[in-house]
Amino acid sequence: MAVTGGAGFIGSHLCETLLASGARVVCIDNFQTGSRDNVDRLIESPNFSVVYHDILEPFPNDLPKFDEIFNFACPASPVHYQADRVRTALVCAVGARNVLERAARDGARALQASTSEVYGDPDIHPQPESYRGHVNPIGPRACYDEGKRFAESLFTDFGAQSGVTVKIVRIFNTYGPRMQPHDGRVISNFVVQALAGEDLTLYGDGSQTRSFCYVDDLVDGCLRLMASPSDLSQPVNLGNPVETTVAEVAELILELTGSRSRIVRRPLPVDDPRRRKPDITLAETRLGWRPQVPLREGLERTIAHAVRREHRASFGDAAV
Ligand code: NAD
Ligand code: UDP
Repeated sequence: MAVTGGAGFIGSHLCETLLASGARVVCIDNFQTGSRDNVDRLIESPNFSVVYHDILEPFPNDLPKFDEIFNFACPASPVHYQADRVRTALVCAVGARNVLERAARDGARALQASTSEVYGDPDIHPQPESYRGHVNPIGPRACYDEGKRFAESLFTDFGAQSGVTVKIVRIFNTYGPRMQPHDGRVISNFVVQALAGEDLTLYGDGSQTRSFCYVDDLVDGCLRLMASPSDLSQPVNLGNPVETTVAEVAELILELTGSRSRIVRRPLPVDDPRRRKPDITLAETRLGWRPQVPLREGLERTIAHAVRREHRASFGDAAV
């Protein structure tokens, strides 16, 4: 199987789980936001290989035939996807086309990593898959939100026209070990800041909510979706329905790190959604999926990983 974006945060966990199940995995990545560190341990496996490739280009011809392609290649945090908005929009659109064409050639299933951002700043709550969203098509998040919406549309039409089995997962905020420390996202920021004894930067009044899903739960859901009957081609929400305010996340991270950092207010970014919480009825009924890892436990694992990473950075590999 192939995992585009396999050297990224979620992609590397997906590669690891697929390998553990006995699969042969090709990680296709251009390392724009991913890193070799994320897949270093996997490279020892004879069933794993990494191909340096930009999905804006068609897949190289010399790759093996795939039976499943997971399309996770795309910068995911605002700081990264806004660095070159035109490129982000094109990676979503042209990348999806290249994945689908390869899937058609190989007779493979294709799964698109979409996002809760397709709902924009939602005006219904929680969001079921039938909700069509409230996205600003020309705002600073549009390259990503609209790019992912287009990719969903292309997957759906391509599946219907070509017979390729397509799957679309709408991923809600996911966190865990190997998040990039400087990706600007709330959990990475707060963990890095708390461990460094720096102020925690709370945007707005902190009453905005998110639903945070631990990465192992998310990967489990993606694998179930890929294996699901071929008629399940509509988008499926995967996320943790437990809704938490950003202020509560800051307090919890301070408690778990034992940090004495202060919480300071910063302006709320433009188009920052007020609330986000998945309705996961479809995943529960069709995939038998429900997240298992509570936020406190997931944060403990994430913090432990961040501490080890800092230790390695300071003292080298032998130190851990
Ligand atoms: P990430 O930035 O850690 O991983 C993305 C990976 O894709 C990186 O390894 C990067 O180098 C690679 N990549 C980017 N552009 C590429 C290109 N043109 N060609 C080849 N490789 C390319 O992000 P992540 O958090 O692991 O997200 C993975 C996927 O999941 C993304 O598609 C993202 O939109 C989606 N998603 C993530 C979240 C989340 O909470 N992390 C939420 C919703 C959706
Ligand atoms: N946020 C914050 N401080 C930070 C980073 C983010 O208060 O240092 C807020 C941000 O404004 C948003 C929420 O946390 O309301 C989640 O932000 P993130 O970028 O992690 O995810 P997204 O907005 O894409 O869901």
